[in-house]
Amino acid sequence: MPTPLTPGPLAGRLFSRGDAGYEAARRATMWNARRPDRFPDVIVQARDVHDVVAAVRLARARALRIGVRSGGHSWSANHVRDGGLLLDVSRLADVTIDAAARRATAGPGVAGHDLAGRLVRRGLFFPAGHCIGVKLGGYLLQGGFGWNSRALGPACHSVVGLDVVTADGDLVHASADDHADLYWAARGAGAGFFGVVVRYHLRLYPRPAAIGFGLLSYPLDRAEEVLRWAHAIGHDVPASVELQLLMSRRGALGRPSVDVFAPVFADGQRAAWRDLRLLRDAPPRPALRIPYTPAPLSLMYRAVMHHYPQEHRYAVDNMWTRASMDALWPGLRRIADTLPSAPSHALWLNWAPPPRRAGEMAFSMEDDYYLALYAVWRDAADDATHAAWPVERMRELAPLATGCQLADENLGQRPARFVSDDHLARLDAIRAVRDPDGRFHPWMGRPTPAPDAARPAAAEAAAVRP
Ligand SMILES: Cc1cc2nc3c(=O)[nH]c(=O)nc-3n(C[C@H](O)[C@H](O)[C@H](O)COP(=O)(O)OP(=O)(O)OC[C@H]3O[C@@H](n4cnc5c(N)ncnc54)[C@H](O)[C@@H]3O)c2cc1C
Repeated sequence: MPTPLTPGPLAGRLFSRGDAGYEAARRATMWNARRPDRFPDVIVQARDVHDVVAAVRLARARALRIGVRSGGHSWSANHVRDGGLLLDVSRLADVTIDAAARRATAGPGVAGHDLAGRLVRRGLFFPAGHCIGVKLGGYLLQGGFGWNSRALGPACHSVVGLDVVTADGDLVHASADDHADLYWAARGAGAGFFGVVVRYHLRLYPRPAAIGFGLLSYPLDRAEEVLRWAHAIGHDVPASVELQLLMSRRGALGRPSVDVFAPVFADGQRAAWRDLRLLRDAPPRPALRIPYTPAPLSLMYRAVMHHYPQEHRYAVDNMWTRASMDALWPGLRRIADTLPSAPSHALWLNWAPPPRRAGEMAFSMEDDYYLALYAVWRDAADDATHAAWPVERMRELAPLATGCQLADENLGQRPARFVSDDHLARLDAIRAVRDPDGRFHPWMGRPTPAPDAARPAAAEAAAVRP
């Protein structure tokens, strides 16, 4: 029987299982109302970096594995595991903005929409995620698909450094020049990162002169026509435009639809009209057509959140693909035919990334098209009918996938490739050096190789190459 934990410097912020306040603290870490029956031994609510160091050292001393939570928006509640220590760093939420240098620092508990709002007011921009509430902690580690990310790259591309508490309990600054292995790994490892990020250092951009969107809506029974059009224009969509197709039983006009939502971030109004010209060649006679309207980011956030209500139960799965529409259509049709009630939806995104410098960061999984399925429901009694939909449909399409996005990962239920094979090997090698005792939980569904098995070549493989 282990001796009970004495909180020491963490008094008042440490909850052991059975303590009053434990269950409230555990539930509060999860955004998805479908909360798993997994129970850490201890939960620590860090107030500052000293608490983070103390918590990691406590975990070391007591041989506890660590799960880290910033915003708790992991659909699978990846941070909540059985046993070990759950470290909640959501209170580390300081922001500094240096407009002249176009740099910001932000704690992991900063919400992307909050940062984006502050920046836009100062004529600046960062590719924060599309939804209200997602925190930078997990968002930047997994890649970060945000506003104008097709032009600016996944948001982790704009991380110029980070402050990390390592598995040893040391606070280090990682960048291209210092602890370059950690810097490489943190940009793309997602929920498999083996340290606690306590601050990000970010590159900022000028606010695009024109922000807005175009919107078309078609009856759902025209989905094939609309999807074939989107697929055919694949790489021709200007980088300033995010071409998203959303199939749902309650679309923009309140009925079963496929909506074409096209946010645009352009140098001026004229450029925005020009970049959205592609909507003119969309299938004719949509039920609704907005060729372009300028819109504040706050309005775009509200429009997106319509599909992601709070206090609902979610099941999510996804894939990257470059397959032909002929190959994809039977699976897509089955998705449309079996769509659960709204706000459940299927999202198609024309991503078509530009060539990136190989090896620059752990992030390495992206492709021409992104497909994600979101089952959304309120009542636990509907779990069986809704929860299986995304994973079953994705299993059917898996032979056409090149991998999955960690943003919407469902690795615990359906393992899939989330970085390139060589990057995964390098991540494992860096982990073996940085976290030889396996202090941090790895991705769900992918146990880390035993440290001893990974160690021999680890130091060599972990060395960061230019
Ligand atoms: C409603 C909604 C909308 C979303 N929209 C987008 C979107 O537009 N674009 C996009 O790219 N993604 C989006 N996501 C996915 C989201 O970015 C990821 O789930 C992300 O991991 C959430 O970060 P978080 O800090 O809020 O979540 P958390 O659940 O706290 O973190 C997820 C995982 O990241 C790791 N982690 C978190 N913080 C730290 C830290 N400080 N140090 C070390 N490890 C840490 C942990 O392993 C943790 O389990 C959305 C998710 C939801 C629920």
